[in-house]
Amino acid sequence: MAYAVHMKRGQKAPTSPIVESMRAVGHDELRAVEFMETWRWADSPACPRCGSVNVYTMKDEETGARNKDYRWRCRDCKRMYTLRTGTVFEESRLPLWVWVHAFWSACASKKGVGALQINRECEISYKSALFVMHRMRAAMSENGGDRPKLTGTVEVDETYVGGKGSGSPTRSRLPTTASLVREAIQFRR
Ligand SMILES: [Zn+2]
Repeated sequence: MAYAVHMKRGQKAPTSPIVESMRAVGHDELRAVEFMETWRWADSPACPRCGSVNVYTMKDEETGARNKDYRWRCRDCKRMYTLRTGTVFEESRLPLWVWVHAFWSACASKKGVGALQINRECEISYKSALFVMHRMRAAMSENGGDRPKLTGTVEVDETYVGGKGSGSPTRSRLPTTASLVREAIQFRR
């Protein structure tokens, strides 16, 4: 079973601030969350429910560190949310650093990345690794709005044998990952 996202033969591994930031996340969940939040919201982490920017990060009462679920709260609609709200990350409880690691591997490795590698490196089940690969591929091939499609620089190869029950990739949009991966790739031009 091959399910890989990879670059064309002979291409140089990319270096860009984004790829470097992804690498720096390592296996640190807080760094992964902050990286993704910055990516998704930049300086304006708007409430996904009402759009208000009158929001704050929730803190653990004892330690003063961020709430263990990395929650935000909106002062206007009073709802709580996280980076995962409204994205594919809601569907799976996989740590965000796993995703960041997978994106980084896809962008930085000449040989690309496959489910087995993610399974091994992140110590998650092969099934979970396949889920990540599948969603990542869907994000990369998705033609979102007026953003340019990936052209030439990345070859997405899918030979997915026995993928029964893989589900519909259209249920969840991947605004964060799609733009992230695209942006990382654009840097290489
Ligand atoms: Zn709100």
